[in-house]
Amino acid sequence: MPLPFILIVGAGPSGLLLALMLGKKGIPVRLLEAAVSLDNRPRATHYSPPAVYELRRAGVLDDMEIEGSFIPNGACWRKLNGEFLAGVAAPGNNDDDQTPMLCLPLNQLNRILQRQIDRLPHVQILYSHKVTGLGQDEGKAWVDVETPSGVQQLEAQFIVGCDGANSQIRRSLFGDWEFPGFTWDQQIVATNTYYPFERHGFDWDSNFIIHPEHWYMAARISDDGMWRVTYGEIPGLSFDELKSRQPERFKALLPGSPNPGDYKIASFSPYKVHQRLAKKMRVGRFLLAADAAHLCNPFGGLGLTGGIVDVGGLYDCLAGIYTGEADDSILDIYDTVRRSKYDHLINPVSTANLQLLFGQNPETALEDSEFLKTCKKAEASPEVASQQRQGIDALQYDFRQHYRK
Ligand SMILES: Cc1cc2nc3c(=O)[nH]c(=O)nc-3n(C[C@H](O)[C@H](O)[C@H](O)COP(=O)(O)OP(=O)(O)OC[C@H]3O[C@@H](n4cnc5c(N)ncnc54)[C@H](O)[C@@H]3O)c2cc1C
Repeated sequence: MPLPFILIVGAGPSGLLLALMLGKKGIPVRLLEAAVSLDNRPRATHYSPPAVYELRRAGVLDDMEIEGSFIPNGACWRKLNGEFLAGVAAPGNNDDDQTPMLCLPLNQLNRILQRQIDRLPHVQILYSHKVTGLGQDEGKAWVDVETPSGVQQLEAQFIVGCDGANSQIRRSLFGDWEFPGFTWDQQIVATNTYYPFERHGFDWDSNFIIHPEHWYMAARISDDGMWRVTYGEIPGLSFDELKSRQPERFKALLPGSPNPGDYKIASFSPYKVHQRLAKKMRVGRFLLAADAAHLCNPFGGLGLTGGIVDVGGLYDCLAGIYTGEADDSILDIYDTVRRSKYDHLINPVSTANLQLLFGQNPETALEDSEFLKTCKKAEASPEVASQQRQGIDALQYDFRQHYRK
């Protein structure tokens, strides 16, 4: 049997997207997933323009629209009493020529990706396949896999770790605790909640509330009244403690001080946020992408977007090697370029908004916060708004420029 070209570990959004893009190019792919099915928890919802560019290349935008994706109108910052401080229109909201930002809950995107993959006979997803170890030599790479029928060793020419924040591939390559960066002290709770924010004057789709204790984000994520409400909590509480505090927290946070009967929570998910970057994104025949390679708090729009952009770049590199248009040195360029993007961007851009939410006095935030001052300038100046967007657009890089001429 010929050696499979690519094996991907992890059927999250990054693994599914990479499998789909390679599969549509006619490249055989095997995808290993530890869980019995796709993850259905409330996770990413917003895709910035560089991610939308890759989703368009993957051919999934029409399906996303059918599922209910929409272009949000923008983000604003408010005091706890709802008073508006500053707002920035979302990319594509006022300008049809621009690649837009799109909103669609991640579990819906995953379903679309899986549906399209299911139509490709040369792409195989194996659930209940948990990778536990790895190895490589000059001719191939392999992973040790726990499967329902016992432990197996599966081989390929290249193996991509898309196995998320706790990546076994990254741990096996560098050691369990070798993921440079830091973890925020803040405990975050993400909920999907039905509540009529619009009736309380929340006319922007994303709302960031600045307050030392009651900071939160409320973002509309569907057309049927579902909002992502993400708020800060005391660190160190158990899941049950967080759950039992939720009604009093919503009463203190949300406009109209609602009681439990006034809203419906569709999902509740505590998580911690990190800023971390793996030491390398290529080690021989192993590659890392998305959360397996870098973690970023999602409040600056750089959570999953960065992962999707990795995938688009890695697709071009691997497809180039497969077709003979590139040699495998392009993977070193992948490593250098992708890591440089995060070294440069991960801290200044994405930490600013989270820090602003709990670290500023809302009464003086407009004068004190450089981030808000820029947002305020962007409100009045299309040039400043465009410069602000370039921070995220700079994530992109076209690896095809390194194909053989
Ligand atoms: C509660 C929450 C809210 C979030 N909100 C946002 C947001 O609003 N915006 C944003 O941009 N980002 C957000 N994120 C982050 C975003 O969801 C992630 O960036 C994204 O899911 C990463 O995708 P991924 O494919 O890299 O990894 P994952 O989605 O984590 O997928 C990894 C997959 O690998 C599988 N796997 C793991 N280990 C193994 C193994 N050993 N063998 C085989 N399979 C394995 C897992 O089961 C999983 O299916 C949020 C995250 C959380 C937890």
